[in-house]
Amino acid sequence: AAQDAALLDRRERVLGAPYRLFYQRPVHFVRGEGVFLYDADGNDYLDAYNNVPVVGHSNPVVRARVSEQLGILNTHTRYLTDGVVSYAERLIDRFGGAVEQAVFVCSGSEAVDLALRMARHVTRRRGIIATSHAYHGTTDAAAAISPSLGPNNEVPADIALVAAPDLGASDPQTEEREFAARVDHAIADLRARGVEPAALIIDSIMSSDGLHGTVPVLGAAAQVIRRHGGLYIADEVQPGFGRTGDWWGFERHELAPDLVVIGKPMGNGVPIAAVLGRASVFDSFGGDVRYFNTFGGNPVSIAAADAVLDEIDDRGLRDNAATVGADLRAALSSLAAEDDGISSVRGAGLFLALELQDDGVPNASRATAVVNHMRDARVLISASGPAENVLKIRPPLVFGSEHLPRLADALRAALAASPG
Ligand code: PMP
Repeated sequence: AAQDAALLDRRERVLGAPYRLFYQRPVHFVRGEGVFLYDADGNDYLDAYNNVPVVGHSNPVVRARVSEQLGILNTHTRYLTDGVVSYAERLIDRFGGAVEQAVFVCSGSEAVDLALRMARHVTRRRGIIATSHAYHGTTDAAAAISPSLGPNNEVPADIALVAAPDLGASDPQTEEREFAARVDHAIADLRARGVEPAALIIDSIMSSDGLHGTVPVLGAAAQVIRRHGGLYIADEVQPGFGRTGDWWGFERHELAPDLVVIGKPMGNGVPIAAVLGRASVFDSFGGDVRYFNTFGGNPVSIAAADAVLDEIDDRGLRDNAATVGADLRAALSSLAAEDDGISSVRGAGLFLALELQDDGVPNASRATAVVNHMRDARVLISASGPAENVLKIRPPLVFGSEHLPRLADALRAALAASPG
């Protein structure tokens, strides 16, 4: 503990305010393996939070492929290399014809930034519509459509925000119609400011909006933006790579996005992300703009991404997300049946949420207390949503049925220890 306090002090001095820590009582991790992280005393923490190590912390297949590639070649994409071509073919294949080409970058934010730039260039317009508590990233353009960053995050005049649809709605048709109407209204608002709409961008599982769900409500809004000459951008940074039991979150909405953004789990922690879309969009952008990315698509990050696809396939992790996710959801539903303060259980595959309310009012303090109790039971989850009252459960996809009881028991105990 004394050592941790000293480390915290040093961290504060050299990293400072931008590097916020998760817990009031921080956990000091020294290694990870599979679905577990370990502290300096060798205690295991069940990771039910992290989306990045999708095929498991310190995955041996990824590690072997990355270190092999590091010893062979690492360079940029202006030379002819094999891996990036084969991987692009393999990745594009997973989209069932929805996309034709890919550009590789190093983070989800960079991919969002590039997708916005492409949409604005191709349409020769500026306006972007996003949901009112979204998170899309950290560059200036991505932060401008990330209201979840808080009240000091400036929203420029070429951005219009719409309330997110409820992906858990019991009447999907009404929800879909109402969301499309809000997008239509946002387009009129932009036009009243002299701004034409270039794109609507949606996180297909609305992670930061706290509304993770499966109800197909996005299709009509995609049609609205297209009817007005804009593009539909699916931000798949959170739901992508099989987490929901489908390869991509947009599949449930039966829509084909004009641009798709992926990242996070793509390299299991090795930085790699991408924008994908139709060749016509890429031709128009690439024909006019000199685009170059030093690290994007380098052979080492591609080796990691290729190993991730191997692992998802070889170990059946997408099916695992669907089946273990269904069992976990059932366990959460039985907790909800015992607890009036749980107002809904939502989600798909291994991306699940419990919303906490007290007499219809969001209960953020209980959510925080539950997250901290779980930390003391060495199970990692988080709270999110506009009111910070939605417990988010999103383990690596190697989370198996053998891990379920520990998560469910810790959650039951944490809820009992944090009443109302
Ligand atoms: N889009 C979404 C939906 C995200 O959740 C995130 C990261 N939390 C990003 C984009 C940005 O990705 P990165 O942090 O890799 O830049």
